[in-house]
Amino acid sequence: MTEGTRTAARLLIVGPQGSGKGTQGVRIAESFGIPVVSTGDIFRANIKQGTELGQKVTAILDAGDLVPDELTSEIVRDRLSQEDAENGFLLDGYPRNTTQVGHLDEFLAGRGEALDAVILLDVPREESIARLRLRAVEQGRSDDTEEAIAHRLDIYENETAPIISVYEERGIVDRVDGVGSLDEITERISAALTARGLRELV
Ligand code: ADP
Repeated sequence: MTEGTRTAARLLIVGPQGSGKGTQGVRIAESFGIPVVSTGDIFRANIKQGTELGQKVTAILDAGDLVPDELTSEIVRDRLSQEDAENGFLLDGYPRNTTQVGHLDEFLAGRGEALDAVILLDVPREESIARLRLRAVEQGRSDDTEEAIAHRLDIYENETAPIISVYEERGIVDRVDGVGSLDEITERISAALTARGLRELV
């Protein structure tokens, strides 16, 4: 790929659990030719492989609690320092509170970078819960118990939702209706990013 066809989109996708941000994140990242950096996926992969990190975070994930900020931010910094993230990335699941926003700001500023856009997937709580119940049956994720789901949604409302206003003040939030077909939602996100002047590969 030549330099001219490269995009440099630095994106974050935010939404409540069950909003479909994982699915949409993969689609959008693909069309921009950038890697998805999902902290949840990183933690789950480590748990599956039984690494030291995995052992440290298993109980935290099962309870639906947050992994400590310093540890999470260090993992993200390492991941974003890899070559494939040089020209952009799509963050999913990080930052999740204002402390993590500070860590990310500091890291990106050190590289002369900043987020270009924050995609906010809007989905009502009842819809999120219904989708998560379905996912619990389909995927059997160990943190998709009723208790852990409710706890994660509470953390979302109390800790993650406040980061939206931080990014809104910077004028980089694109609020997208997350109810509809997968293709419709991808189309809405694409349109919002294109309107921002961010270019997709195809
Ligand atoms: P969900 O959005 O459905 O909760 P994720 O895959 O994003 O799923 O996250 C799963 C779990 O991984 C979280 O409940 C939390 O324990 C941990 N985790 C993911 N991202 C972070 C983060 N940025 N900070 C702390 N913990 C995190």
